Parts: sequence; C-alpha cells; structure tokens
Amino acid sequence: MASTLTDLSKLCVHTITTKPWNIDLAAEEFGKAGIGGISVWRNTLEGRDIVRTGDLLRANNLNIVSLVRGGFFPSADAIKKKEAIEDNRLAIDEAEALGASMLVLVCGAEPRISLDKSREMIRAGIEAILPYAENAKVKLAIEPLHPMYADTRSALNTLEQANDMAEYFNSAYVGVAIDVYHLWWDPHLEHEIIRCGANGNLLAFHLCDWLSPTIDMLNDRGLMGNGCIDIRQIRSWVEKAGFDGFNEVEIFSHKHWAEDQHEFLKQITEAYLNHS
Ligand code: ZN
Repeated sequence: MASTLTDLSKLCVHTITTKPWNIDLAAEEFGKAGIGGISVWRNTLEGRDIVRTGDLLRANNLNIVSLVRGGFFPSADAIKKKEAIEDNRLAIDEAEALGASMLVLVCGAEPRISLDKSREMIRAGIEAILPYAENAKVKLAIEPLHPMYADTRSALNTLEQANDMAEYFNSAYVGVAIDVYHLWWDPHLEHEIIRCGANGNLLAFHLCDWLSPTIDMLNDRGLMGNGCIDIRQIRSWVEKAGFDGFNEVEIFSHKHWAEDQHEFLKQITEAYLNHS
C-alpha cells in the first residue's frame, strides 16, 4: 500500500476540473488552498499573453505540471493530418511560453480508419513533432485512454500499447501519462506500470474515480473515493515504479461543474488526502 498523503504539495489540479473558473481565479484559489501544481488546458489560454500567464501561475506558488492537450493525429484527410501536426507544434510553443515541461497527448482515433492504421498515424505524428519538442525541451506524454474512446479519441487504449509506443521512440522527450480512470480495469496494470517506470517513461499520474453507474461517457468522472477505483493501490504501484511527481486531479463532471467551485475545491483537497 502507498503511504498516506499528508499535505497538498504534490497535488496538482487540472484547470478543466474547475472549468467554470478562468485561469486567473483558478490560480488564485489553487494557490490559496496550498495546492502545489496546476495543469493547464489550452482553452484557458485563448486570447492571453501566455508568458505572463505562466508568471502569474508561478507567482501563486504553482508548479506548472503540464499543458493539455495535443495529439489527435489520425485522419482520413491529408489536410487535416497536416493541420494536426501544425496544431501540435503550436501546442509545444505554448507549453514552452508557459514554462510547462510536458505536453499531454490524446493521440486520436478516427472511426473510418482501422485501429491499426490509426496507431501507425499516431506513430508518424509523434515522429513528425518530436524534433520540435526536443528543441523546445517539452516532453510528450502519451495518455492511453479507456477503450470506450477507441472510436474518436484514442486508438491507444492500454498501458502496454503506450509503453510499446514510448519504447519505440526511446527518447527522453517521449513518455506516458497514467490516468487511473482509463486504466484501472487492466489486469496487467501493475506489470505495465513497473515496466513504464523501469524504462524511464512514467511522466504523469492522473486521478479521479469511476462512478457506478456512469451516466455520461465523457463528463461524469467522480471525485476520488466516490467510485470503484482502488486509487491508493494504483498509486502504490506508480511509486514503486519510481514516480515522485505530482498527483494530478483531472475531473470532467457536469454535476461538479454545476456546484459552487469553492466547495468543490475543498472536497477535492479532502478527497485527495483521504481517498488517494
Ligand atoms: Zn488524464
């Protein structure tokens, strides 16, 4: 079992988790709560001076853990594929300007293309942006997604597949983001987490819970402790694999977004300490 979390220094909250707040308010409130890190979703940067936004986050004592998200490489349309590469380069520029050392990749899938073909396109997409990422010193974190998203969001659905992909590149600038929501069901999870760490590819660890029943495939993630994921056990494997980075709370939830976000943030810090 993992040790109990006793403070918030390793807690990172994704801006999408408190979606009703703009980044100024999120920075202020996360900082006031003593939260150690923030992962920034690109929508919150629209129309802003990104360098200054990075300064603002750091002024609130927040480590900028990652920029979310790049990816979406597969497409049947050559122009769209090219646009995806351009958009990923832009995301790398944004991460560099913000001072984020990592860009999370939701790698993409396209229902009209076979999963194998989509995976080839993902490999080609990462290959195309990797020199750019290396030059900017921004790591690319491949996030395998739950198989229920294999139609449109990611053709990489297990940690084994993400490990295979990261090991293919064998670069300090390609690794994996492990999200309990996507991977908790996998009977090989412990083994693949250890493999991920042993190869130096474990870049990020994302937390929330799987509600039962889940009423919305995208926006019904639960607060830690409200669902059926043994988060503490998975964290123990991640730590056994050598990971000592941030525990990132990433919750998409119509229910929680409709609540008072100050109350919700309090619930997040409590759930983090008691159920993560
Ligand atoms: Zn995630």
